Amino acid sequence: MIGVNQNGAATDSTTRSVIEQMTAMEHEQVLFCQDKATGLKAIIAVHNTVLGPSLGGTRMWNYATEEEALTDVLRLSRGMTYKSALAGLNLGGGKAVIIGDSRTQKNEALMRRFGKFVNSLGGKYITAEDMGIGTRDMEWVNLETEHVAGLPEYLGGSGDPSPVTAYGVYMGMKAAARHQWGSESLEGRKVAVQGVGSVGATLVEYLVKENAKVTIADIWEPGVKALVNEFGVSAVAPEAIYDVEMDIYAPCALGATVNDETLPKLTCAIICGAANNQLASEEKHGRAVMEKGILYAPDYLVNAGGIINCYWEVIGYHRDAALRQAEDIYTTAAEIFKVASERNIPTFLAANELAEERLERIGRVKLPM
Ligand code: NAD
Repeated sequence: MIGVNQNGAATDSTTRSVIEQMTAMEHEQVLFCQDKATGLKAIIAVHNTVLGPSLGGTRMWNYATEEEALTDVLRLSRGMTYKSALAGLNLGGGKAVIIGDSRTQKNEALMRRFGKFVNSLGGKYITAEDMGIGTRDMEWVNLETEHVAGLPEYLGGSGDPSPVTAYGVYMGMKAAARHQWGSESLEGRKVAVQGVGSVGATLVEYLVKENAKVTIADIWEPGVKALVNEFGVSAVAPEAIYDVEMDIYAPCALGATVNDETLPKLTCAIICGAANNQLASEEKHGRAVMEKGILYAPDYLVNAGGIINCYWEVIGYHRDAALRQAEDIYTTAAEIFKVASERNIPTFLAANELAEERLERIGRVKLPM
């Protein structure tokens, strides 16, 4: 219901609920973008810029409702604040969504118009790729704004971030192994890797080098065959991965694979992988894994290699520096596991608290003198 009150202010319930949602999740700014000529409908959410400019990808998705798009962008941008804070980066959290079908509605004019909106924020938000948005699209966005990261190397960007992501996941896994078994060595450990795309395949390489016993699953058969042939790893059908005997489960494909159905099947002592949002419900399944004696390495901590790579692209790219910073995931993970065990709290809570503590601490440094 849209209306105005006596002062002329909107009394539309949608408007009110947007502000309410922003307040509840502590967003700084949300920009609603529309352009009749190109058909662009987008939302850019700047969650927090305490540590630095907000950075996060643009997702193009055919959302069923505008509310769904808003919820997604608010949730994802908040997640980016936590991810960057935990990775020790001088970046805040932001995200953008374009409402529409990326296969049929995407074109140069639409992406360039979107780029102009990104530019209007004056660097407070730096965009990158996400679901439904590829390199070509970012090239178009880049024609209208310099506030873009994750560009290909031929455009002066840092290229594919997945090797850095895989290295960070590997570091998180070693920290988890040390916490659970007293040694970071993965030799002889049974690791089930779900999804052997860009990140999963590189992770498998690290694991094989360390003589771990790797089982893989992917719906993409050529990828599976290539790794079986090259490294002699075992493979199972995609739906069988939860049933294999394993010490470590490494989800590197989809989100929400730790859920009511899979959890009773999982025999692992550690969950550590690249996929985003691995717990179907953070609260419910984050506690359930703990009660089952499984150590869950928070996904937004161990898969931070991608954002670390983007950060170095923004400040001047050095792959070695990005890899070195991804190595710090080991230390941060170890600290989180220690705090979680000492206080008997789920690891996701310990991770959230550490991120909030850094925001608070650095926020104070940034106060005017
Ligand atoms: P990718 O698309 O290259 O690989 C994903 C793989 O998962 C593909 O090979 C796909 O066939 C497979 N897959 C899909 N459904 C499956 C199923 N049901 N069972 C088994 N395999 C299935 O993606 P990626 O870049 O390797 O990223 C993997 C995950 O990590 C994604 O969730 C991504 O969001 C997340 N992530 C990636 C990065 C990065 O730097 N690439 C950074 C942070 C997070």
